[in-house]
Amino acid sequence: MARLLLKMPLAKINCVVFSDSVIHDMMISVKKHPRLETGGVYLGYRQNQTVYVIQSVDGGFKAVHQKAYFEYDQTYVQHCCDRLRDAYLEPIEPLGTWHRHPGSMDQFSNTDHVTNRAYAELCNKSAIGVLVNIDPKIRLSVYSVQPRSNKGVVYNKIPYLIGNDYIPPIYFKKKSLHVLMSNIENQEA
Ligand SMILES: [Zn+2]
Repeated sequence: MARLLLKMPLAKINCVVFSDSVIHDMMISVKKHPRLETGGVYLGYRQNQTVYVIQSVDGGFKAVHQKAYFEYDQTYVQHCCDRLRDAYLEPIEPLGTWHRHPGSMDQFSNTDHVTNRAYAELCNKSAIGVLVNIDPKIRLSVYSVQPRSNKGVVYNKIPYLIGNDYIPPIYFKKKSLHVLMSNIENQEA
């Protein structure tokens, strides 16, 4: 279960590609909170119907980690997302969220439905939702979260890949340091 509201951009999603570091970050977070829910936010790019997850943000200092409940520290998450967005050559955008679920529960809870519906109401756009289970092997369930105009959201389980080699190199490019320093100098002038 998770509560979070962030602005989400649009389009149907058929496949997700995770960078190595994003999966690494997720596992660090899961390890840090044994037998408790934890989670984070994804940022990256959309190309056609594929989503490339380049970065992730953890739940934050004030996140709530319980056995069957997780709540993001929204102020922290928003702050980190803003910083990361500014760092890349092409601004990265929020793509969705992940969180760990207890046992083998690989479907979204009622709380999750509320959160996802709120996304839909706020943005009328699509996102990805990822659940992590350990039963006993680590298992990822990756869903596209598609809003419906009447009410609620529709989930579709979609395939995913892990590895930087599957991601266009341009998506890893940060702003040039030279340009950044010139901008700062101009700002001060
Ligand atoms: Zn959940």
